[in-house]
Amino acid sequence: MSALLEVDGISVSFDGFKAINGLSFSIGAAELRAVIGPNGAGKTTFMDIVTGKTRPDEGRVLWGETSISLLKLNEAQIARAGIGRKFQRPTVFEDQSVADNLTMALRANRGPFAVLFWKPSRDTARRVAELADEVGLADQTDRRAGELSHGQKQWLEIGMLLAQEPRLLLVDEPAAGMTLAEREQTTTLLKRLAQTRAVVVVEHDMDFVRRLDCKVTVLHQGAVLAEGSLDHVTRNPDVIEVYLGR
Ligand code: ADP
Repeated sequence: MSALLEVDGISVSFDGFKAINGLSFSIGAAELRAVIGPNGAGKTTFMDIVTGKTRPDEGRVLWGETSISLLKLNEAQIARAGIGRKFQRPTVFEDQSVADNLTMALRANRGPFAVLFWKPSRDTARRVAELADEVGLADQTDRRAGELSHGQKQWLEIGMLLAQEPRLLLVDEPAAGMTLAEREQTTTLLKRLAQTRAVVVVEHDMDFVRRLDCKVTVLHQGAVLAEGSLDHVTRNPDVIEVYLGR
């Protein structure tokens, strides 16, 4: 199976310091992947490069069946090409209902003029209901987003990202601050989403990574230190040294 995203030998320096150092990574079109690594390993910078926020000094980032170079696209074009990123802190519109938040996300997806000329149709209402259902908020659509629990806000934001119909979702520490029940639901959600798209989860919480039960990529000093199942990578002496200190 060919990769949806192929990152090949990227490097980037900040003031002479190599934050990413020859990193290669690939993910299939319907795959769940956890990216772990100690603080400063390069996880955020890696996601910044994939989403076009940071340009690498070297290497290639290839996308889709035709292997187009993402390095030729800007952030907005990369988002439109099908890469969605969810930051740790949810950024939903607290004063609006769940349905209105999803409606706005659908509208934003139609481009800048849609904000002026676009009227919600029955089709939109159907799509909003589908998105709410997909992220487990079907019975919350009339609630104000500000009243949702932290976990529900995270799911709403994932729903808003799904409005863009991304083929790759990058999710930063989705389990942080969640209750146990919410974490379980988030695991189920991410696994389900990865049946039809690629999902990369950057996560510190090993218990949550274990629940995801997927291939794990360990980053260290801006490169891949180990890759495989969580059991496989946590038996790797290099990984043990990095995590437990020298
Ligand atoms: P992680 O997300 O794994 O904690 P980061 O990608 O944030 O790691 O950072 C990797 C390294 O690059 C760190 O040492 C960090 O201090 C450095 N770094 C990241 N962004 C910048 C920047 N804009 N300027 C200078 N150094 C940076």
